[in-house]
Amino acid sequence: MISEEVSFFFKRYVKSFHVANNGIEGLELFKKIKPDILISDIQMPKMDGLEMVEEIGNTSVPIIITTAYSDIDYFLKAIELKISKFVIKPINLITLISDVQDCVTSSHLQDKLFKKDNLLKIVDENVLISITDKDGIIVDVSSSFCEFTKYKKEELIGQTHNILKHDETPSSFYKNMWDIIRSGKVYISEIKNKKKDGTIYFVTLTITPVFRDGEIVNYTAIRNDITDKIKLEQLIIEDDLTKLYNRRHFNTIINQEIRRLKRDNLKLSLVSIDIDHFKKYNDTYGHPKGDDVLVEIGKVLKNHTSRATDYAFRMGGEEFCLIFSGLEVEESLFYVQEVVNAVENLNIEHKNSKNNDVVTISAGIVVQKASEIINEDTLYKYSDIALYQAKIKGRNQVILSDSSTMS
Ligand code: GH3
Ligand code: MG
Ligand code: MG
Repeated sequence: MISEEVSFFFKRYVKSFHVANNGIEGLELFKKIKPDILISDIQMPKMDGLEMVEEIGNTSVPIIITTAYSDIDYFLKAIELKISKFVIKPINLITLISDVQDCVTSSHLQDKLFKKDNLLKIVDENVLISITDKDGIIVDVSSSFCEFTKYKKEELIGQTHNILKHDETPSSFYKNMWDIIRSGKVYISEIKNKKKDGTIYFVTLTITPVFRDGEIVNYTAIRNDITDKIKLEQLIIEDDLTKLYNRRHFNTIINQEIRRLKRDNLKLSLVSIDIDHFKKYNDTYGHPKGDDVLVEIGKVLKNHTSRATDYAFRMGGEEFCLIFSGLEVEESLFYVQEVVNAVENLNIEHKNSKNNDVVTISAGIVVQKASEIINEDTLYKYSDIALYQAKIKGRNQVILSDSSTMS
């Protein structure tokens, strides 16, 4: 009945449709007509569907199995036999048609791929690929890569990948990459690059050394564009207004940094920042102008956190936070004082501020050896107490928490 229903339906859509009444007939028919696709039920007289597929052996023909069984053993067997799709009964014909379409499209693509002439063309048009010599000089690039990066082929050939480097990618990143590929290993990493027009993009990069007579002669680099994924991830960790990291990400980073620094036994610096007399600023100039100030201060913080292990957060409202590491107490204090100065030097008029005529910030900092850190909450409390002291002492300054590790 099912077989009749399915064939009635399919005959309207496909050029030739053949029906076998059992596994043995199916096997013979398969050999005779060499179909583009095979649909079979598991349960059939004489020889069941999976036995038939097993008999057919290695084939590139997509196979769809329909079944009433949801028995795990059947699924495992089906996976082993490389069944393309599984359709659980009762069969929904619309779903089945779309499954067939999926299988046919991918098998057509494979057909095309295996025609050698087409292979190179397809790679050229669809894969972001570049090939360098052993020194990293680009010797060839795919059209797809040119189109993607907006460079012409001749602009890339003869250059190094430095041409695509984003300023934020540290040179240590490239050193590490070279160490790995020079040793003959495959290198895989996510990387931020920029196109000719300055647009930023993210890719997963796979670099494979190419050997001749045991020597590396080339490197091939293949990329997968992951810009959309990364942008989405950024939205989740970013503050809308200032584009600094948000509080949610603070919780992630502080824990990650404490763990990392405990391994290396380095010092962690946590800075709490609050704008001075900001309520008065809003009262005087209006809330939108206040928002502009938040953005400007955000930029100062961003500019002062350019190392890979520096972080700037907007914790909410007019409160910010900085995390950095590896600096001694004196260095940390000096560094935060620079940030405080930089905000004052923005010279944003604040005529009703009680302690200045421009916008200023106060900061509290705690610097602790990772091994002495109790937890992130305590650390945050220490920097907050120091911030409070900075406010009392007259604002526009940084105060060091006396819970800091002094030696
Ligand atoms: P202090 O020097 O003691 O920090 O004084 P303050 O006025 O800055 O302190 P308070 O905490 O009393 O006020 C914070 C003000 O920050 C309240 C609110 O008007 C302002 N504020 C908080 N979030 C935002 C925001 O997103 N945009 C703007 N424009 N203002 C904000
Ligand atoms: Mg405040
Ligand atoms: Mg304030």
